Amino acid sequence: MKIFIDPGHGGSSVGASYKGRKEQDDTLRLALKVKELLGTQKGVEVRLSRETDTNPSITKRCSQANKWGANYFLSIHRNAANKAGSASGNEIWVVRKANEKTQYKASVILASLCKTDSLKNRGVKLGAPSYDNFGVNSGTTMASALLEVGFINNEKDNRVFDEKFDEIALAIAKGIMEAHSKEFVSPEAVRGDADGDGKLTEKDALLALKMAVGHEKKDMSADVNNDGKITPEDAAEILKKSAK
Ligand SMILES: [Zn+2]
Repeated sequence: MKIFIDPGHGGSSVGASYKGRKEQDDTLRLALKVKELLGTQKGVEVRLSRETDTNPSITKRCSQANKWGANYFLSIHRNAANKAGSASGNEIWVVRKANEKTQYKASVILASLCKTDSLKNRGVKLGAPSYDNFGVNSGTTMASALLEVGFINNEKDNRVFDEKFDEIALAIAKGIMEAHSKEFVSPEAVRGDADGDGKLTEKDALLALKMAVGHEKKDMSADVNNDGKITPEDAAEILKKSAK
């Protein structure tokens, strides 16, 4: 699965700004973190439209993703209200004629973010605020969305952005995986730790065996040999490891 992340603005395009804080910096920092997290996932390739403070044209951002054959395109931005402090929360934009699948994917990513940062869910929106479509949504050939992560001219939204930065990045990465019916496997997870308590014990082996035969809901952290499925071999491997 190829995921293309587009950090909004950059270079001469500052985006919105507030008290010295620039949208172009927030979007790049967040996109780099999301890339790092998604990069830990098996079978997932990630590319960014920019990795430094540059401003590729909208056409360039789209053509990079189109040529690469990305499966999903997510542009990351921060919102701004006309009057500082008057609006708060997250929203996501899809092309005006978006099909149900594209809208669904956007809603999953947005829900994952809102659950984590506890800011208002402002919904999946069609088109663009004052014109037909955002160029990144109309110029891409795959499902795409433009995510507005809080308002840059809202003190609370900025505080949440900074304090929960890693969790927000993780929520977006998880949301992207979930939107494609894939589970995000925590990179810190101990391989084989089926019950997720941070250590390998006989209990994990038993749980993995139950998962292998379908008596328990599969959790891919039990996939100790990392072959993409849970089998009795994983259970045996966990048992061996837990004895050490
Ligand atoms: Zn923007």
